[in-house]
Amino acid sequence: RQEERLQKVLAQAGIASRRHAEDIIVQGRVQVNGEVIRTLGTKVVSTDRIVVDGRPLPIPQKDYAYYLLHKPTGYITSVTDPQGRKTVMELMEKISQRVYPVGRLDYDTSGLLLLTNDGDLAHRLMHPSYGVEKTYRVEVGEKIPEQALKRLERGVLLEDGKTAPARIREVSPKGRGSGPAYEITIHEGRNRQVRRMFKAIGFPLSALKRMRFGPLELDPSLAPGAFRTLSKTEIQHLR
Ligand code: URA
Repeated sequence: RQEERLQKVLAQAGIASRRHAEDIIVQGRVQVNGEVIRTLGTKVVSTDRIVVDGRPLPIPQKDYAYYLLHKPTGYITSVTDPQGRKTVMELMEKISQRVYPVGRLDYDTSGLLLLTNDGDLAHRLMHPSYGVEKTYRVEVGEKIPEQALKRLERGVLLEDGKTAPARIREVSPKGRGSGPAYEITIHEGRNRQVRRMFKAIGFPLSALKRMRFGPLELDPSLAPGAFRTLSKTEIQHLR
């Protein structure tokens, strides 16, 4: 039977980052086989019953899986939806592992979504201090004046504060008849941030697609709704 340190098991189960898992233990929020454990480095085995804040830990998963999904519009990125909308989990039903989306994309946003059961990595990638760069392709009906683009780059004031500096560039439109398109790179991850940023400069966008997430890029050949596993190199770059 393989022993693991308690904080590592908590992190791998996606409860918290390794550091935060240590805090949770010291705070007396973790029980092993019915006993509160506050000692860091306590060893546990897979048959131990671990409870955090009164909730049992999911079965530990050692077989890490990493998938890149081309999320179509019309899907939500949570695991269940009280409103009964389709979830990205339905697109991943064919795979045997349980994987979870890293971060969120809006219902009406398409593009690159990372899914994994590597909770430690997921927590790190979502943490603001890690500042993962995300690039979005944005479609608007008209050309945006240089002035307004500069404002986006410098940061615009939203209800939840000024946005951090961003990079923006004009890219060629996708098809005939479509308006100008832009690519914006941000490293924050506020709710509906890109939509709100463009609205704030007076150009509400008509389509939003994530092209990049950290070192990962959306393959042009990956159709909406299709997914693939990450390569070894991609996983190494993420970690
Ligand atoms: N910004 C948004 O506004 N929506 C997304 O889905 C992602 C980033």
